[in-house]
Amino acid sequence: MRKLELHWQILLGMASGVVFGYLVTSWSGGKDFVSDWVAPVGTIFINLLKLIAIPLILASLVKGISDLKDISKFKNIGFRTIGMYIFTTIIAISVGLGLVNLIEPGKGLPQATINQMVSTYTDNSEISGKISEAHHQKESGPLDFVVDIVPDNIFAAMSDNGSMLQVIFFAILLGICLLLISEEKAKPLKIFFDSLNEVILKMVDVIMLTAPFAVFALLANVVVSADNPEILEKLLFYTLTVILGLILMVAVYLLILYIVTKRSPFSFIPKIAPAQLLAFSTSSSAATLPVTMERVSEHVGVDEEVSSFVLPVGATINMDGTSLYQAVAAVFIAQALKFPLDFTQQLTIVFTALLASIGSAAVPGAGMVMLVIVLESIGFPSDRLAVGLALIFAVDRPLDMCRTVVNVTGDAVVATVVGKSVGLLHPPIEKRLKKTYR
Ligand code: ASP
Repeated sequence: MRKLELHWQILLGMASGVVFGYLVTSWSGGKDFVSDWVAPVGTIFINLLKLIAIPLILASLVKGISDLKDISKFKNIGFRTIGMYIFTTIIAISVGLGLVNLIEPGKGLPQATINQMVSTYTDNSEISGKISEAHHQKESGPLDFVVDIVPDNIFAAMSDNGSMLQVIFFAILLGICLLLISEEKAKPLKIFFDSLNEVILKMVDVIMLTAPFAVFALLANVVVSADNPEILEKLLFYTLTVILGLILMVAVYLLILYIVTKRSPFSFIPKIAPAQLLAFSTSSSAATLPVTMERVSEHVGVDEEVSSFVLPVGATINMDGTSLYQAVAAVFIAQALKFPLDFTQQLTIVFTALLASIGSAAVPGAGMVMLVIVLESIGFPSDRLAVGLALIFAVDRPLDMCRTVVNVTGDAVVATVVGKSVGLLHPPIEKRLKKTYR
C-alpha cells in the first residue's frame, strides 16, 4: 500500500487534535489532562526543531557560500533577496490597508462588545507585558539594529535562538574567507560543514516522522486553551478581514512564482505544505525554519547556495503575514475606538509596519508587540493602548497561526524566485528522481 504523503499525515494529526481538544473540554479536568499529558509532546517537538535550527543555518550557509564559484553571485543573491522582501512586504501592508478601509470591520462594533472586551482583557498581564516589551524595543537607537547583527562572541550568539542574524553574519564571513584561502587548506573545513549539513538535514527527516503526533498535541492544546467562542463571533468581521487579506497575499505569491518561474502553484504548494502546516501548528517561523529549508532545497529544487541564505534571513526579517495583520489591526482599533486616521497616518502605518516586520521576532505573539509601535507611530494615545490591544486579544492566537503560514510561504516563494533569477533553481524532486532512475 502506498504510504500517505507527509502533508496528509500532518493534516490528519491536526484534525484529530482539534476533535480531541473539543471532546476533552466537555470533561471536568479535561483541560488539565491536555496541558499535563498531551501538550508536552508538542513542546518537545518544537524544542527538537529549534535545537537543530542554529547548526543547520551555520552548516548550510558555510557550505552554500564556500561552494560558490564566484563571490559576486552572492552579492547578487543578497540584493535580490532584500529587494524582494521589501517589495512583498509593501504589497502585504497595502492589501491589509485596502481591505480594512473597504470592509471597515471596526465601525459597526457595538459599544457593549467594546466594554466587554475591555473589562475582560485590559488588566491581562500578557497585554501589559507586550506594551512594556514594545517600549523597551523602541528605546534602542536607529543603528542598534545593524550593531546587533555583529556578535562579539559567536558561542554566545549560537547559544541563543533569538540571535539568528548574528549566526548568519558569522557564517557568511566564514564562508567567504574559506573561498579566499588556498583550496588545500580550505578542504578539511569544507568537508566538515558539508557532512554536518547532511547529518542535520537527515535529523529534519527523522524529527518529521513524529510530526503527525506533535501537531495533534499542539492543536489539542490550542483548542483547550481557546477563549470563549462567543467573543470570537463578535470579532468575526475583523477576523475575516485579516484572513481574506492573508489568502489574497498567498494568491499574490503564487502569481509572482508563476510569472517568474513558470511553476504551477498546484505542484509547488504540496512540496512546501508540511512547512506551512507546521507554521500553523507552532505559530513560529523560527521553529519551522529547518523544515522550510529542507522542503525548499530538497523538494522544490532551490540550490542550497540560495536557500541557505534567503530562508534564515527571511525567517527573521520577512514577515508579510505579520505586517498585513498589523495594518488591519491598527486601523480596526482606530475605527472601533473612534480615532480618525488621515492619509498621512495610513502612510505612516506602511513604513512603521515594514520596519516592524523586520524587527519582529519569529516567535508566537511577536506581531502584537510590534503593533504597539505601529499604534504609537500614528499618535494613538498611550493611555489607551491596553484598551486597543484588549479589543483584538481574544483572536490573536488563531490569527497568529494563520499569519505565520503566510510568513513561511513568503520566504519559500522568494527563495524560489531568487533561485530562478540567478540560475540556481533545479528541477523539482520528482523530475530529479526520474532522471536518476532512468
Ligand atoms: N508568529 C509569527 C512568526 O513567528 C510572528 C507574529 O506574527 O507574531 O512568524
